[in-house]
Amino acid sequence: MSSLAKNYKRRKLSFASGKGSFLYTKSGAKYLDFVQGIAVNSLGHTNPTLVNAINKQSKKLWHVSNSFIIPEGEELARKLTNKTFANAVIFQNSGAEATEAAIKVARRYFYSIGKPEKNRILCIKNSFHGRTIATINASGSEKMTEGFGPKVAGFDHFKFGNHNELKKKITNKTAAIMIEPIMGEGGIKVIPDWCLKELRKICDKNKILLILDEVQCGIGRTGKFFSYEYAKIKPDIVPIAKGIGGGFPIGAVLMTKKVSAGMVPGTHGSTFGGNPLAMAVGNAVMNEIFKKGFLGKVNSNSKYFISELNKIKNKFPKIIKEIRGKGLILGIQLHHDQTKFINSLMKNKLLTIKAAENVIRVLPPLNVNKNEINMALKIITKVCNSYQK
Ligand SMILES: *Cc1c(COP(=O)(O)O)cnc(C)c1O
Repeated sequence: MSSLAKNYKRRKLSFASGKGSFLYTKSGAKYLDFVQGIAVNSLGHTNPTLVNAINKQSKKLWHVSNSFIIPEGEELARKLTNKTFANAVIFQNSGAEATEAAIKVARRYFYSIGKPEKNRILCIKNSFHGRTIATINASGSEKMTEGFGPKVAGFDHFKFGNHNELKKKITNKTAAIMIEPIMGEGGIKVIPDWCLKELRKICDKNKILLILDEVQCGIGRTGKFFSYEYAKIKPDIVPIAKGIGGGFPIGAVLMTKKVSAGMVPGTHGSTFGGNPLAMAVGNAVMNEIFKKGFLGKVNSNSKYFISELNKIKNKFPKIIKEIRGKGLILGIQLHHDQTKFINSLMKNKLLTIKAAENVIRVLPPLNVNKNEINMALKIITKVCNSYQK
């Protein structure tokens, strides 16, 4: 009997070790892991560079309070701002903390310019921004908020794709629009570039902030460092997490100089956020992702993977409805419930994970190679074939 609470539906499978794209059980069974902790292990399991970084830092210094200067954090913040729209960073430990911090930053900005009434955040109905009390209310999902007490005020919602509703829901109390450029849990739904451009214009026109939740789709996942770069726009606030720590829990909120002005000493904090051990790993992840050719390879592998997945789709149009996604955040949408298909993939030693809308999420490590992609394609084809019978 497990002493853990039953808040997860766990598979009857556990692993003893991992290397790159693969996981191994205690008895030595080998699985191709195209979940990677849900886009967390961006450089695969036990990446030697990261192992080295964490070993080195673990012998020097693990944790000091944020009441002191933390050079490793200064360095990671500098790397993040040098490569992006942002001028300032606050480190956290998770995605939900990062999205909550994003909400705080947006509200505090308007407070600091004498407009405290502008505090409402407009989000897509049934989106995903984390599991804290505030972020489940941001998501606007009945399922996620059920049983968790009074609704947290300050959030409005519009239906995905309903631009008229979006415009109508903006009032003089709106502080920001917060969306995921690619809805991960929502079924790998990509917000088109023209739509992001339009959103930017709407925000500018209404003098409100654009928060892009890149917790899942950021950090090289789409083949650019941030997925919004495809739309050639600049957001005001971007929460990140998953991929930045390569498996070590790190979250952060990135912001422009303008909005950071509200975050004066004492306004926000975190005991663990940005400690030297976490920051050492984050720096190593950034160094790898910005190595020459790294993102180019993500893109060429993605192109190959997507085109081969579409060939499988065309061969099995009664099973696969659509191939979704960008870079290496991919979705195979089935016509029917995907549970059985995912279980069959797992029996064939390929690990994938569910998302909404009958989608099978495929999240290989960013440094996956073509052989591994071919292995996955072969297993997916095999499972499709077994469905035909
Ligand atoms: C995973 C995720 C979160 C929450 O991250 P946690 O680390 O689980 O708190 C928030 N937003 C998006 C888009 C995510 O994918």
